[in-house]
Amino acid sequence: MNNIDFERITDAFDREHLWHPYTSATDPLPAYKVKEAHGCRIVLEDGTELIEGMSSWWCAIHGYNHPVLNEAAGRQLERMSHVMFGGLTHEPAIELGKKLTGILPEEFTHIFYADSGSVAVEVAMKMAVQYHYALGHPERSDFVTIRTGYHGDTWNAMSVCDPVTGMHSIFGPALPVRHFVPSPQSRFDGEWLQEDIRPLEKVLEEHHDTLAALILEPVVQGAGGMHFYNPEYLRQASMLCRRYGVLVIFDEIATGFGRTGRLFAWEHAGVKPDIMCIGKALTGGYMTLSAVLTTDKVAETISGNSPHAFMHGPTFMANPLACAVACASVDLLLSSGWKEKVKSIESQMKRELAPAAFLPQVAEVRVLGAIGVIETKKPVDMAWMQRRFIEEGIWVRPFGKLVYIMPPFIISPEELSRLTSALVKITSEMPE
Ligand code: PMP
Repeated sequence: MNNIDFERITDAFDREHLWHPYTSATDPLPAYKVKEAHGCRIVLEDGTELIEGMSSWWCAIHGYNHPVLNEAAGRQLERMSHVMFGGLTHEPAIELGKKLTGILPEEFTHIFYADSGSVAVEVAMKMAVQYHYALGHPERSDFVTIRTGYHGDTWNAMSVCDPVTGMHSIFGPALPVRHFVPSPQSRFDGEWLQEDIRPLEKVLEEHHDTLAALILEPVVQGAGGMHFYNPEYLRQASMLCRRYGVLVIFDEIATGFGRTGRLFAWEHAGVKPDIMCIGKALTGGYMTLSAVLTTDKVAETISGNSPHAFMHGPTFMANPLACAVACASVDLLLSSGWKEKVKSIESQMKRELAPAAFLPQVAEVRVLGAIGVIETKKPVDMAWMQRRFIEEGIWVRPFGKLVYIMPPFIISPEELSRLTSALVKITSEMPE
C-alpha cells in the first residue's frame, strides 16, 4: 500500500475555482493532480504511479504519451493546428475519411466531423429529423430509445439518456419528452427472450408517424448502467424500424474501436444502422473529435431537398490536429493485433474478477471484451473508494453501484493483475 500525503496531490486553487465533472463547486470530492502520464501509468504530483483502469473514460486505448501519436501531432502542429472547414479542406480530414470508410462497410459513404461525443449525438438526431423533413414529414421529429442508456450532456443527447440513471433527471421538465422502452433483459451470452422486443414493437406501431429514429448504444450500455445485452435485440429492433420507416442510430462513442472485442459493437449482431456516432477512442484519447457516419440514402435525401444543405457546422469541425492524430491512432490500432489483446484482457479479467462474485457486497460480475464490471449491492462511497484505489496504486473511478474498468489495450498481464486484485480487495472492504 502506498503511503500518500493526500494534501500534496490536491490543489487549493483547483478546489476553490475549478468545477470538475458532476461535482459540487463548494464541497467537491478530491481531484488528484497529475504530473504526467505514459503507457498505462498516470503519475501524480508527488510521483505516485497509478495503473490506469479507465482509459480516461474509454479513450486512451494505446495508453498515454505514445511516440507514434506524439509524432503525428507534432508533424501536424508544424503545418497548422486548425483551419475552418467551411469552404476549405485538408489532408488530415481526407485521410481520416478514407481510413474510416475503409474500416466500415461500404454503406457508410458520408462523414460529418463534430467536436465531441455529445455533439455527434446532436448531429445524428438532427440528421434523422432533417431526413424526414426532406421527405415531407416534418412531424416525424421524435425519438425512441431504451432505458439505462447514456448519450451525452447536451440538450437532445440528455433527452435520450435514461431519465433516472442517465444523470440528468433534474432537467426532466425542461427536456423534450421521448419514448422510452425497457432495456433488453436478455443477457449478451444468454438466451434470447422474445418478450424483450414487444415494448419497442408497440411504440413503433402506435407512434411511428411521429418518430424520426431509434437511438441506442449497441450491445453495451455505458454510463447509464454498464449493461451487456443480447445482440438479437439489435436485429429485431432494426427490422421493425425498417418496416415503419424509422431510422436507426447507433451510438458507438464508447464501444467503437475494439472495446467490446469487435471493431464496432454492432458487428456482434451483424446489423448496420442508418446513422452511427463515433468519438472517444477515435483520437486514441489525445483530443476531442467525433464523427457521424451515414448512408447514401440519408445523405442524398437531405441534400436533394430544400434547403439542400445539412444545417450544422461547428467552428472546430474536422480540426486538422485531431484528424492527424486520429489517422495515426486508427493505423496503430489496426497494426497492433488489437483483437488478440482485447481477447486476452477479456479472459484475464473473467478469471481474476470472478472471485468478486462470491463477496457479500457484490450483486454481479460481468466482463465483455476489455470491459470488466463489478456491480455492488449498495452504492459505493466514492471518496473513500477512490482514496483506497490510489493507496493501492490504481486509477479507477466508480459510480453508483458500478466499480468497473476498461484499461488501455496495451496493458501488460502484470499491470492488469494489479488492477483486478486491487479492485477485488477494495470491494471486499466495503461495508456489507
Ligand atoms: N455517448 C456515449 C455512449 C458516451 O459514453 C458518451 C460519453 N460518456 C457520450 C455519448 C458523450 O460524449 P462526450 O462526453 O464526448 O460528449
